[in-house]
Amino acid sequence: MSVFTFGGGHECECGRRLNNAYTTFEDDAEQTARDKMFKVWEPKWSMEYPTAEEAGTERFGMTYFETNTTDPARCRCGAGTPPAAAPEPDPVVRTGMWWFGESWGAPICDPRTHIVLNSGHECFACKRDLHEGDRGFVVAHVDALEGVARLPWHRDCFLQSLGISV
Ligand SMILES: [Zn+2]
Ligand SMILES: [Zn+2]
Repeated sequence: MSVFTFGGGHECECGRRLNNAYTTFEDDAEQTARDKMFKVWEPKWSMEYPTAEEAGTERFGMTYFETNTTDPARCRCGAGTPPAAAPEPDPVVRTGMWWFGESWGAPICDPRTHIVLNSGHECFACKRDLHEGDRGFVVAHVDALEGVARLPWHRDCFLQSLGISV
């Protein structure tokens, strides 16, 4: 058996900090304890010792945990659950273009990307207020400093900006 200790800056994906914690692995015919440790924790641990005594687990008040290698619903330290993977965004929504108003029958008029625009917005292009009943797009504008802003456009203003006569 080998004893593996963790130090400051090491943590489990559940968010638990592993400084002053240790885990153990047994050698077997196929893999050494060290190989098993690397397989699960990569190089993100501190020291290997042949015994708990040499690691000083009692002296330093270290916390033992059994590394979880069998239950995929638990994190590696076994204390929590791994963070849920973010759901794949809807491929239509991901394109970043929404539309509002009544459908005008274009392919962009997908019900999944239809939104109701609240009052108080102006068109990005002509700066006139958008009114109930207007049709248009909400377009993601990417700015290196500000990140992504979604700004509404009149449908016709947007199409004109693309050189499409309306
Ligand atoms: Zn954990
Ligand atoms: Zn406009």
